[in-house]
Amino acid sequence: NVTDKEVTEVAGGPQEGDPGAAPLVVVENVNKYFGDLHVLKDINLTVNRGEVVVIIGPSGGGKSTLCRSINRLEPIDSGRILVDGKELPKEGKELARLRADVGMVFQSFNLFAHKTILENVTLGPVKVRKVPKEEAEKHAMELLDRVGIASQAQKYPAQLSGGQQQRAAIARSLAMRPKVMLFDEPTSALDPEMVNEVLDVMTELAREGMTMIVVTHEMGFARRAAQKVVFMADGQIVEENTPDEFFTNARTDRAKDFLSKIL
Ligand code: ADP
Ligand code: MG
Repeated sequence: NVTDKEVTEVAGGPQEGDPGAAPLVVVENVNKYFGDLHVLKDINLTVNRGEVVVIIGPSGGGKSTLCRSINRLEPIDSGRILVDGKELPKEGKELARLRADVGMVFQSFNLFAHKTILENVTLGPVKVRKVPKEEAEKHAMELLDRVGIASQAQKYPAQLSGGQQQRAAIARSLAMRPKVMLFDEPTSALDPEMVNEVLDVMTELAREGMTMIVVTHEMGFARRAAQKVVFMADGQIVEENTPDEFFTNARTDRAKDFLSKIL
């Protein structure tokens, strides 16, 4: 029921550069400090095209900092981060353009309160991607439709439920036609009855081939959508595993201990 063309559109269009086996995101020997605090300790992570990687681990472990570093919202102190073979520049116009390749959805929905849902979704494409307004609106309505909130397009964020706002935030990210989507605990701020409507949208995106990095404690989502689980604690990647192995037979005591507390 989903055409190849639609899948390609959601996945960011035809890929530039080496379309073969080259990974979409490469994090190489990355270190980051906040003052004396060593928050990312020699992180290495590879995300292939179309792959879904779930990052899980205790609070304060560096998961958000890693996501923000991949999107250059945080500078790193050493190492490199490549998205589609390109290192993001530290600043300037090129940064805004390349940053748009990485969509990001946060725990707090971060929608512009004084703009309608439709305006929230069209703003980036019009301002950064220079898409004509009419075309941006058409694409925005398609995206709002696929996240199930087309009927809310003219409303303001405060008029929507948390689950609807988060789906609007996902549509807003997708409107930039990102090559990879980062989700940082996208359902943690939601009332329980709204968690699934957001996870369902994410599962569908994964199924359509979107490359995704997802920080979440939602085991059901990890099992159904992820190819890889990364367990992060104290600024380190402690274990990388398949979801099946990780949840039934984790290799490290640290991961087993964490799982025993949350399962
Ligand atoms: P997680 O997302 O896994 O909970 P974070 O990446 O948010 O972890 O935080 C990792 C560590 O970095 C924590 O000790 C946190 O207190 C610290 N930290 C995060 N952001 C900042 C900041 N802007 N300034 C100083 N310390 C920070
Ligand atoms: Mg966090």
